[in-house]
Amino acid sequence: MEQTVSVLKFGGTSVGSGERIRRVAAIIADIFKDPSTPFPVVVVSAMSGITDQLLRIARAACSQEREQYEQELTTLRQKHLEAAEKVTASERGRAQLEIELEAGFVALAQDVERLRQAAEEKQAVHLRTAAVASWGERLSVLLVAAAVRELGVEAEPVRKEIIITSHPAHDPSQPFGVVVGADPLGEETRANAQAVVRPLVEQGIVPIAAGFMGRTITGFVTTLGRNGSDYSATVIGAALDCAEVSIYTDVDGVLTADPRLVANAQLLPRLSYAEAARLSWFGAKVLHPRTLIPIAPRNIPVRVRNSFRPHLRGTVIGPEDGRPSGAGAISIRRKLALITVESTDLFGAPENAGQVFVLAARAGAAPVAICSSSGHHLSFVIDEEAAQSVVALLQHDMDKAVWKVSSRTGLAACACIGSGFTADPKSSARAITALARERIPVLTNGASEQGITLIVEDRDSERALRCLHRDLVAPVIPLVRRPEAVVTVKNETLLKA
Ligand code: ADP
Ligand code: ASP
Ligand code: MG
Repeated sequence: MEQTVSVLKFGGTSVGSGERIRRVAAIIADIFKDPSTPFPVVVVSAMSGITDQLLRIARAACSQEREQYEQELTTLRQKHLEAAEKVTASERGRAQLEIELEAGFVALAQDVERLRQAAEEKQAVHLRTAAVASWGERLSVLLVAAAVRELGVEAEPVRKEIIITSHPAHDPSQPFGVVVGADPLGEETRANAQAVVRPLVEQGIVPIAAGFMGRTITGFVTTLGRNGSDYSATVIGAALDCAEVSIYTDVDGVLTADPRLVANAQLLPRLSYAEAARLSWFGAKVLHPRTLIPIAPRNIPVRVRNSFRPHLRGTVIGPEDGRPSGAGAISIRRKLALITVESTDLFGAPENAGQVFVLAARAGAAPVAICSSSGHHLSFVIDEEAAQSVVALLQHDMDKAVWKVSSRTGLAACACIGSGFTADPKSSARAITALARERIPVLTNGASEQGITLIVEDRDSERALRCLHRDLVAPVIPLVRRPEAVVTVKNETLLKA
């Protein structure tokens, strides 16, 4: 019978230095040695800051600034070699890792040169940029695999791409150094994951795979878009029919707000898929907004936990189980624009709503929230960066004699998510009162069974988040908070790392 696996994903901060990679290796070794847990399949991000650096390199290559990108390539090499020294105690282990890394640096330099040439010859550069961007994860895989082997556990870097994706379209308006996310293809990825990963698992070797990246059927390297490693972990998990996906990051789990903005944010022990998806849609960076898409239909749970405090249970995200999670969390999505389409006569035409959204989608914008609509008026918010092209397209394609299109930029959405709020019919009024007390104007708002959304000026958004947290979340914390379960640390290596 096939081994059951669980996917462990480690984010950029968790693998941000040699010392941190050693901690990660200890977590993997612990799970590997525990007979009560499924066999680990590991997915890793680039070391923090490396993808940004690779995209700076890509931009410099496209604008033929050789000196600049060569300098960046040198510091990138240095950072990985320093980490290599920390993760390997044995001479043999270090020598092997250095050979692997050096081969990686050579291949990266070749990809940068191919990108430079493509830009010089005015060819499309998006796929060559993706190839350069993927090197952060590819190099990180080598470091993590070496660190795990140091602990006496057989581990292998997975060099082949696991995720098979669509072929992303070239958008000539995109500036250099931007990665275009491609879409994973479910069936093709499943077959490929079974072929590439399963044989290692069946031999008892821990596969260490690169997150974020994939390839097209025809062999071009692609990415799932910025911050896409969480998403890649669940795509791989679904393809392997895994028991659970653990997302290891730098906080204890999903909290009632971003802890960088709200000092007393609290851990949420349990969240439904829908609640977690909405939180990430409205800006909670802890999960990529598409993370739950591959696994929610299969009821595979996701656990968000802290790689610096792995003995904590974290947040479990799973299907609705009949009882409300009781969770209440606030997030903000910033840099939005409100688009208003209104009829110049009294009647308008209700069927035009469909046309408005089709045109917005054609300009590359999905509505972040729909604010109000009637037969002769429609308003919705989209990302600010798309506002100009959406307005231009709407003005061009809608009947000018009847429809007036306007936009207002510099806005943010504050979302109060979770059954902890929606169970109480007074939540919406309390949210608006809380903001009014702080003299924060609410431009428009909406409430649904899923939560409350308030559109405010972007400059007010952090203050709004703190005041909503204070007035709405703090009072329900005693209801949502359960005693934090602590599991015993089983492996001595974990304590020493
Ligand atoms: P990783 O590198 O592990 O992918 P990220 O930086 O992408 O980590 O995501 C983790 C960060 O998400 C945290 O450090 C935290 O600042 C931020 N964050 C935003 N909202 C939340 C929230 N509601 N709960 C927990 N973390 C949050
Ligand atoms: N390294 C990629 C990025 O920085 C993917 C990720 O870390 O999630 O965008
Ligand atoms: Mg992330």
